[in-house]
Amino acid sequence: MPASINDIVALCKRRGFIFTGSEIYGGLGGAYDYGPYGVELMKNIRAAWWNTMVYARDDIEGLDAALITNRLLWKYSGHEGCFSDPLVECKKCGARMRQDKMADPTRCDNCSSTDLTEPRPYMLMMGLSIGATANGEINAYLRPETATTTYTNFKNVLDAKPHKLPFGIAQIGKAFRNEISPRGFVFRMREFEQAEMQYFVRPGDDEKYFDMWRDARMNWWINVLGIPAEKLRFTPHEKLAHYAKAAGDIEYEFPDGFDEVEGIHNRQDFDLGSHTKAQSEFNITANVMENKDSTTKLAYSDPQTGDNFIPYVIETAMGVNRTMFAVMLNAYTDEDLGDGKSRIVLKLKPKLAPVKAAVIPLARNVPELLTISNDIVTKLRALGLGRIELENSGNIGKNYRRHDEIGTPVCITVDHQTIEDGTVTLRHRDTMAQERIPADDVTHRLIEIINA
Ligand code: ATP
Repeated sequence: MPASINDIVALCKRRGFIFTGSEIYGGLGGAYDYGPYGVELMKNIRAAWWNTMVYARDDIEGLDAALITNRLLWKYSGHEGCFSDPLVECKKCGARMRQDKMADPTRCDNCSSTDLTEPRPYMLMMGLSIGATANGEINAYLRPETATTTYTNFKNVLDAKPHKLPFGIAQIGKAFRNEISPRGFVFRMREFEQAEMQYFVRPGDDEKYFDMWRDARMNWWINVLGIPAEKLRFTPHEKLAHYAKAAGDIEYEFPDGFDEVEGIHNRQDFDLGSHTKAQSEFNITANVMENKDSTTKLAYSDPQTGDNFIPYVIETAMGVNRTMFAVMLNAYTDEDLGDGKSRIVLKLKPKLAPVKAAVIPLARNVPELLTISNDIVTKLRALGLGRIELENSGNIGKNYRRHDEIGTPVCITVDHQTIEDGTVTLRHRDTMAQERIPADDVTHRLIEIINA
């Protein structure tokens, strides 16, 4: 049976992946805290993205911009004017809903009443009042996406690391949106994380690179995250945002249907064109607001022709928390073992697993077993593959159950035979198969398993 959202919520709490934010004071909608295994899984997803998008290429650079930002960024990006959702309130029960996400826009999602307010724009950015003279007045915002801070650093990056077009800038970091109704556990949050890449191309090359990135990102979901192709689809947007020439979503099949996990957008020259100084010097295609405040030209100078122009942008925009949620839903397996027994296994790709291996002395506090186990742990930790846990509780069944549930690919058991002949038991998560191998082989076997 496929996992339900409740299965994942329960596992996350039980095993320490995700907790409700501010939980002991009753929580705060749309904010979650990541526990010991959640931070590891998030880190591994980020690393998998960064490896593909930055380390495996010559044409993409990294960036980590500030989360608190001058409000002019959001004036000229257009967010301050129109980054809002249509808010509808139910006059009967007081529920507040986002009109474009309602099951039936004429009826309250909560009580089915048709007595609703007219929709009104609801500002999604979180304002800040920074500095002693601000007196509570909003003079800055928490960024609602990473992309804009990438555009405003275009010239900095290019000056520091010259590139020919096409080239890209990648960023992973937090974004904040005052969502009307956070929902679906970590599907829609108010504080979340994005992994976004802006690829700068020559006007005219944009359609080719849009297709290239759409295919590359879909392949990443399949090959790197291990999501089966049939649980994914690409849906082009029918209604385009004002800045977009083309756009579409990579969607994952969540328990209640396909929904967006990553967006691919052809943003033309809207962003660099909006934030550049001296807009009239360039032939900007997109409809941009006049900018009197920018201090920098965000243009590209062609080394061959000397042409100075504003590149187009192809954007790939993935939510890291939503991706982790999809990865967990896909990996969660409730396995019938016969005789009324069952187990829950998180069949994650070993590279993504929060714990790479558990070393388990068969009996608790037997000095010889503990010495050998510690020795193996030290060698495995030296590989730098990620978290290696020593389990010294002496309850092997319980240890296997826990590591199945958090997705540890292998458990290594040290027993009395190890003292005699130097072999250990390697127990594989997915098949539960056990093999006896020399303790000296454990390191290279683990490298093989994690890189499989
Ligand atoms: P939506 O239409 O669902 O509000 P969006 O189209 O505005 O989302 P983008 O701005 O394209 O989303 O953001 C890129 C990615 O960031 C999304 O595909 C999603 O994975 C993630 N994301 C966006 N909003 C949230 C949120 N409130 N909580 C968690 N992840 C989010």
